[in-house]
Order: sequence, then structure tokens, then C-alpha cells
Amino acid sequence: MTPTSSASSPASIAENLAEVRARIDAACRAVGRDPAAVILTAVSKTQPPEAIDAILAAGQRVFGENRVQEAQERWIGRLPGLNDLELRLIGPLQTNKAEDAVALFDVIEALDREKLARALAEAAQKLSRAPRVLVQVNTGAEPQKAGVLAEDADALIRAARDTYGLTVEGLMCIPPADQDAAPHFSLLKQIADRNGLSVLSMGMSGDYETAIRCGATHVRVGTALFGERNRP
Ligand SMILES: *Cc1c(COP(=O)(O)O)cnc(C)c1O
Repeated sequence: MTPTSSASSPASIAENLAEVRARIDAACRAVGRDPAAVILTAVSKTQPPEAIDAILAAGQRVFGENRVQEAQERWIGRLPGLNDLELRLIGPLQTNKAEDAVALFDVIEALDREKLARALAEAAQKLSRAPRVLVQVNTGAEPQKAGVLAEDADALIRAARDTYGLTVEGLMCIPPADQDAAPHFSLLKQIADRNGLSVLSMGMSGDYETAIRCGATHVRVGTALFGERNRP
């Protein structure tokens, strides 16, 4: 089957970016937060080169990807010309891809088990490159979803920091699609606060303003920037 492109035109991607940024600013101001304290991660998975060109030209530099190999294909060739790029892995990571992930990503948002913490620590030592890490919490305890259960989060955070020496900056969650996201965002903030973590990656196209109200420091937005993705 021939995939059809559903990417927006460069002009509309720039417009979408401006609108999302304006809405982030407004959501921050509404709750008395500094808009500079919320980072927009553009979720670039599945996007064609023209869409990436367009959003880079509009000034976006922080990107989220959910697959290591796809991210390598999309970004390695662009790295030499972009020294202010930040790449964030937002999808589940297998231990056998830990080294590739550490080599490419600045931040790995998908730490959800001790075995992966060990693999990341070994890769970091081998490559002399220490990515920052977020622990992903499965706040809805959904069996099909990655992430450590909320009740096991404190122990994993402690092990990642103390046993494996990882730089744990914060937490990430993806609330159940069919529920009000706010209680999940609030739970993530509680876990972060009691562990002294400052970074909260939460909120997507449909709920990033809610996430900002609940304390998000990073929102992961794909569709609202690029249009609908092709789904296999
Ligand atoms: C795809 C994806 C997003 C972006 O979702 P949109 O609804 O398109 O904004 C955010 N977070 C994760 C983990 C994703 O996989």
C-alpha cells in the first residue's frame, strides 16, 4: 500500500506552532505560571522530511520520538547542522536498544523498570554520555501500557538514582484515553513532589492546557502541530 501524506503545509505548520505556543502562554498566565517554565516538545514521529524542515524553520528545537530506529533515520543526518536540538525518547524502550537510545537522545522519558535502568547505566558508561531520564508512570494501571505502577514509582526512582547513578529529572505519564486526565496529572505531580523531582512531562494535543494547570513542565504535542498522523 502506498502511504498518503497527511502532513500540513509548511505555512500551516508554522501557524499551528504559533497557535500552540500562544495557548501554552495563555494557560500559564491563567494559573500564574511563567510561560518560560513550560517546554513544548514537538512529537515528530511519522512526519515526513518536509514537515520537519517546516517546523525547524519556524524555530522549534525540542522533539519527541517514540521509536529509536525511526528517530535515527529522521535525525542523525540533521544533527551536524543543529547544535541546539534536543531529542527526547517518549516511547517504550527495549534493553537491547538502550545503547542506541543513549547515543542519540538527550532525554529518555520511558524508564519503567529496573532492568532498563541497569541497561541505561551500562550504556551511559560505555559511551561516556549521560542522558537525563524521566520515569514513566502508568497512572491508570492499564495492562497494555508501559510505565511503572504508581505504587512502585518511589522504589524505581530511588534505584535509578542511587543504585544506577542515573540523572532522574522527573516523571512522564500517558493517562487512559477514555478518562478525565486531570486526576492522572495530579497524581504524577504528587509522586514528583514527594521525590524531589521538578520535571513533569504530561499533556498531549487534546489536554496540554489541563496538564499545564496541573503543573506540567513539558507538553508533548503532535497532531495539533502537524495534523493527523497516518496510522498503520
Ligand atoms: C504520539 C504521542 C504524543 C503526541 O500525541 P498527539 O495527540 O498527536 O499530540 C504524545 N506523547 C506520546 C508518548 C506519544 O506517543
